[in-house]
Amino acid sequence: MFHRIRRRAAEPSEAERRFFERAMQMDGQVPPEVERMRAELQNAAPAPAPAGDDFLPPELRVPSHDQLDGRMMPWPQPLALDGELVTCTGCGAYRDWLILSTRDQIWLRCRAGHQHHETRLDTAWYNRHAGPADATHATFEDCLRHLGH
Ligand SMILES: [Zn+2]
Repeated sequence: MFHRIRRRAAEPSEAERRFFERAMQMDGQVPPEVERMRAELQNAAPAPAPAGDDFLPPELRVPSHDQLDGRMMPWPQPLALDGELVTCTGCGAYRDWLILSTRDQIWLRCRAGHQHHETRLDTAWYNRHAGPADATHATFEDCLRHLGH
């Protein structure tokens, strides 16, 4: 018994020899089927977008501050700075402002549409007082309308 097994191992059958020969020939070759599937995958699927690019649908994205040209908030009450009531140089209005924050500057806009750069206020002040934006607008005018100006 032992002797027969050893002999069989030493002398592979004809079928085994052919199998090994074919395996040696195929070594390093890619079956045509695999090649075809690879090509199909490459044609069908566009390259995946970089992570984060379309992570959320546009309507769910909140623009970061530097994506916005500016922000504005209504300020209905009088505004006192350094113990002094801010008044409009154009018409003397002292309340019902729109406060605009844009490019690190704070501007005040009265009901009549006069604007002046308020150097006593800065973006940090604006951020402390402004709530989260409730809407974004494509243009300055849209935003004014939204705030009733
Ligand atoms: Zn004014």
